[in-house]
Amino acid sequence: MVKDTLDKMDIENSAGNSVADDSVVEQIAAHYEAIIRLIGEDPTREGLVKTPVRAAKALLFAAGGYRKSTSEIVNGAVFTHEGSRMIIVRDIEFYSFCEHHILPFFGIISIGYIPDGKIIGLSKVARIVDMFARRLQVQERLTEQVCAELQKILSAKGVIARCTAEHLCMKMRGVEKQQSVTTTLDYNGIFATDPTLRHEFLSSI
Ligand SMILES: [Zn+2]
Repeated sequence: MVKDTLDKMDIENSAGNSVADDSVVEQIAAHYEAIIRLIGEDPTREGLVKTPVRAAKALLFAAGGYRKSTSEIVNGAVFTHEGSRMIIVRDIEFYSFCEHHILPFFGIISIGYIPDGKIIGLSKVARIVDMFARRLQVQERLTEQVCAELQKILSAKGVIARCTAEHLCMKMRGVEKQQSVTTTLDYNGIFATDPTLRHEFLSSI
């Protein structure tokens, strides 16, 4: 069994709150220990003794989106705004897991919206991306969820998101295509009815 002093640092969220308790780390670590043995390794050799606990903490951090909520993230950072021009937050990096293989996929997502009286703090947009990315995901759903959630928060005239990502499940296994990049696009509101706005967004990112 894995026994280690559990250092919570690695699984704290950015606000410093613990997001998973020791018993969850211990349970995941026990499974990792079994996996290490099942793939033909020796979990008792020196370099691997602490690996199950480290891996459990790393997983809990990388899958921390399950323990976040929009209300906690936004925390009042929605402001009145008179303008009606497009606001674009470009190239937000994210790291996620493909839900079919539990291998990473990662890339960037750019978001545009046309406000209808309300804007959101820019860092909050990035945190919302992280909340949905740090889960078992497919890129298509990640793009949709970010778009829909911002629309829910802002009641904007429209929200659009473009996501570009590399999938390790395509590079390390399966078809082993090293250069492939997947792009997904989602939009709602005025972006659905006005192709010139979609073009304006796409040409400026
Ligand atoms: Zn996959």
